[in-house]
Amino acid sequence: MGKTKEQRIKKLKKIRMWPSVLGLFLILLLFVIILTCAMAASAADIVQRKLIDSVITTARVAELFVDYNSETKESIEREVLSHIDILEEIEAVSVVDAEQKPVWSSNNEYPTADEAVSTELLQDVTDIEISIIIDENENQMFNIVNDEIIINEDCYKNLKDVLGTDDLDVTVPFTNMTLWFVIPVNDMEVMVQNYIPIYVQDFIMAITCFVLCGILIAVFVVYYLISVIGMILSVRKSTKIIYTDMVTGGDNWLSFIKKGTSFLKKNRKGHHNYAMIHLEMRKYRSFCTCFGVNKGQELLEQFHSTIKKEIRCKEIMSHQENAAFGMLLTYSDKDDLEARIQKIEGMLNTVIPEMKMYFSTGVYLVQPGEYDVEQLYNNAMIASEMSGEESENSIAYFDIEMNNRKLWERKVEDDMERALENKEFQVYLQPKISTTNEVLGGAEALVRWIHPTEGFIPPNRFIPIFEKNGFILKLDDYMLEEIARVQSEWLAQGRKLVPISVNVSRAHFTREDLAEHICSIVDKYQVPHSVIELELTESAFFDDKAVLLNTVQKLRSAGFQVSMDDFGAGYSSLNSLKELQIDVLKIDADFFRGADAEERGLLIVSEVIDLAKKLNMKIVAEGIESREQVDFLTEQECDLIQGYFYAKPMPVAEFAQKYSV
Ligand code: C2E
Ligand code: CA
Ligand code: CA
Repeated sequence: MGKTKEQRIKKLKKIRMWPSVLGLFLILLLFVIILTCAMAASAADIVQRKLIDSVITTARVAELFVDYNSETKESIEREVLSHIDILEEIEAVSVVDAEQKPVWSSNNEYPTADEAVSTELLQDVTDIEISIIIDENENQMFNIVNDEIIINEDCYKNLKDVLGTDDLDVTVPFTNMTLWFVIPVNDMEVMVQNYIPIYVQDFIMAITCFVLCGILIAVFVVYYLISVIGMILSVRKSTKIIYTDMVTGGDNWLSFIKKGTSFLKKNRKGHHNYAMIHLEMRKYRSFCTCFGVNKGQELLEQFHSTIKKEIRCKEIMSHQENAAFGMLLTYSDKDDLEARIQKIEGMLNTVIPEMKMYFSTGVYLVQPGEYDVEQLYNNAMIASEMSGEESENSIAYFDIEMNNRKLWERKVEDDMERALENKEFQVYLQPKISTTNEVLGGAEALVRWIHPTEGFIPPNRFIPIFEKNGFILKLDDYMLEEIARVQSEWLAQGRKLVPISVNVSRAHFTREDLAEHICSIVDKYQVPHSVIELELTESAFFDDKAVLLNTVQKLRSAGFQVSMDDFGAGYSSLNSLKELQIDVLKIDADFFRGADAEERGLLIVSEVIDLAKKLNMKIVAEGIESREQVDFLTEQECDLIQGYFYAKPMPVAEFAQKYSV
């Protein structure tokens, strides 16, 4: 399969899924960021508020020590202790003097000096400078820098962990901070240990945010999941369409290639014998013309289901173009394979019992290791094409010679138009010599292709191809025009003209105005029609007989000579002589060749000559190579002899020189 074709198929199958997946990812990322920020902001806010509350409480406790002296000591201590009892957040109060010597403590606990981190905080609450000392048993959860509390990462993680737990008990703080606040009062430093619990309900904002985000995420995830699933389904659907044949609803050519390649690759070791089959109904187009395209498609659908029934495991089939079906079948031996193909053809013939249908089948026997399905199928097609139209339900096997023939056919078809334009087709003339005095009595124009790379190409290598593709019509017109031109030149030169015959292929006899067409070509050169002879073959009878008879009659009335070429070759019948009035009978070279040339052949020749004479026809014997043949024909009063004995076909210039009259 060509790369561009593969790319086109890939493109057809491709539905871009990555924007949806990327969208999903971005949405998730966005929500995570929003959630993180909300959590962080909420946590910072909560902690700050709690700290402010604690500082205010601490300041109140510290204020109690403003009047602290030996007289007030007891009452103040009592009051402080009662505060500690009332205020849940106050854990302990300790007082030191200017030299850091203990003055009083509620529980004999003092923070160590190196734990102290002093900063100014909450100037609007109190003028007292506050230091925050981290409790040695607790991790530092935040820093206070320039009046701002910055939550550290561990703290955040801690919060996240707690929020992530399922059985969250809101009555129990999920974390807490125990901090020492140090407030200088007079010459002393009042140190208050604060217990700051943090409850889940403190995070109600964050939790609400979290839940909302969760809902939004869920909505988006569902939305994107639905769109991704939709895409997957549509990819599957379009893949199915790509591999489905629109006429039969079965597998199509692409699917055939895909599955076939896979089967053949698995069969590298040759466990099965595989045969690639091309089976085509002949004259499908005529069927459609008679019964309509819809009926034609129905027929193909029925063919498809009929063949499908015959397909076994590890075999495939698909509809190809027009009325052709491809099959990759396994077989044990050739007889078995042919029997299966014949069975399939038989079954197809039962689809419309009242109509006999013909099929041409090409077979390529796949060798282990071959898995280029397109190439293998092409071989089967070539075999089928080469099998010819005539044979009934023929099965043709591909061989390499067929391939070469097909390649040559393609080359000829590629080059023919250019060749005509570039005058690569050249006219050769072969003389027809009179038996009475051995002088020139006529000539036949035979084409030669002087190809720029292939060199000299004889007509049998391209005429049959042109007859098949219709190019022969152009070539024959060209040859006729060339001969008319040559004759007019020779006429102008004062040469004595002899009739020159040109071959008129059977394909021309489909046009009813053929005679007028020939006249119009010749009349451009103003040469007498009598110097142009038109050779047609009996095979033209197989087409439209009326057109043939009519054309021949018109041509003869216009003064052209008409000859029947190759008489005696192929399906010659005397019947054609009865119906067709012609001027010249060309006896085919076959009569003078072969095993019975000596007796029966010569006897027939003499009888044919006799008959032709009686019908007032001139006789030309073709393919004459020996003196004996010439003598025999002279004796039989054959009029003209064309053959290598006298001369091979030669270029016009050479002919003009050799036969100057
Ligand atoms: P054809 O019309 O029967 O031409 C006679 C063929 O017999 C020529 O072959 C000629 O060279 C060959 N031939 C003549 N004498 C002898 C001989 O003594 N021995 C042998 N072995 N062969 C001899 P050529 O030129 O190769 O042409 C082959 C066929 O190609 C022609 O058979 C004709 O059917 C076709 N053809 C040639 N030129 C044209 C053309 O311009 N138009 C059409 N439609 N067909 C042409
Ligand atoms: Ca001829
Ligand atoms: Ca001939």
